[in-house]
Amino acid sequence: MTKNGILCQTNGRRVYLDPKNTDDTGINFVSHAHSDHLPSKNGGTILASLETSEIANLRGFKMQNHVQNLDSFSLIDSGHILGAKGLLFDDIFYTGDICTRDRGFLKGAKIPKCKTLITECTFGLPEFVFPKIEDTQKHVNELISDLYGKGIPVILMGYQLGKAQTLTQIFGHWGPLYFHDSVKQMNLLHQKFGISLNDGIGHTEAQRSGLLDKKPWVMIAPMMSSKSAFLQEMKSKYNAVTVGFSGWAQSPRFAFGRRTDYSIPMSDHCDFNELVDMVVKSGAEQVYTIHGFVEEFAEHLRKMGISAQPLREDSLDDFI
Ligand SMILES: [Zn+2]
Ligand SMILES: [Zn+2]
Repeated sequence: MTKNGILCQTNGRRVYLDPKNTDDTGINFVSHAHSDHLPSKNGGTILASLETSEIANLRGFKMQNHVQNLDSFSLIDSGHILGAKGLLFDDIFYTGDICTRDRGFLKGAKIPKCKTLITECTFGLPEFVFPKIEDTQKHVNELISDLYGKGIPVILMGYQLGKAQTLTQIFGHWGPLYFHDSVKQMNLLHQKFGISLNDGIGHTEAQRSGLLDKKPWVMIAPMMSSKSAFLQEMKSKYNAVTVGFSGWAQSPRFAFGRRTDYSIPMSDHCDFNELVDMVVKSGAEQVYTIHGFVEEFAEHLRKMGISAQPLREDSLDDFI
């Protein structure tokens, strides 16, 4: 672990995994385009999928020296968001952010065999076991139907990149369908990559042309504070109800549920059981945990007889 993120020095190469700043002399792997995984500047070689590079570009980071593949490195679909990859090299598998469950157009990751596994564990506590996506769909469709019956518009909220497209795909049959402008822009990029998503009008245009006055409707919007000007307006003018989607909604111990009128557990990450399954399937002899409940998840693995240690920024230069 270095100040710049995870560094693997193998076979004379320096491989950085989702570095904060790219290294001029190394190979810099960027697993996907969520902002906590994008480097802040260019340098060296950047290894990432084409989708990741294009989404990064849309978000204001233009990758230089970008390559989509390199000899002896395999990019493995991680099922997290469009273009998200894990990296397999020298018997090491780095998951990036990973999900092994199918959701809409995103297919769950298939885990390769490896000796060393570096895995995220965002939801690495046993209380995080997510419901089946079919059950969630049924529950939310009933909720929308109920609100529609009373003429109440519904705003479905999830991360602008990833969750919002899944919501568009599984709830886009409701109409009239509107999008927050930022979601519309991200959906267009997904459509360009061949993902089929229903179309809808952006919120600025829908509001300007008076369409939002004709209730009820469904809108898909990014996660935002209930105090944001946008939500305040949607609530006061149109009496809209908000439904938030996040893995954190699974546990009452976390504050997520208090942000929206309804909160639904749905995540683009593995839940606890899926993380454990993934580790077992990989056959790894050594596991390093990053992101989330690193200590707790590593301890759980050790109790299962698997050698596991957390990678923390305060344990600089300790490993591999
Ligand atoms: Zn992510
Ligand atoms: Zn992440």
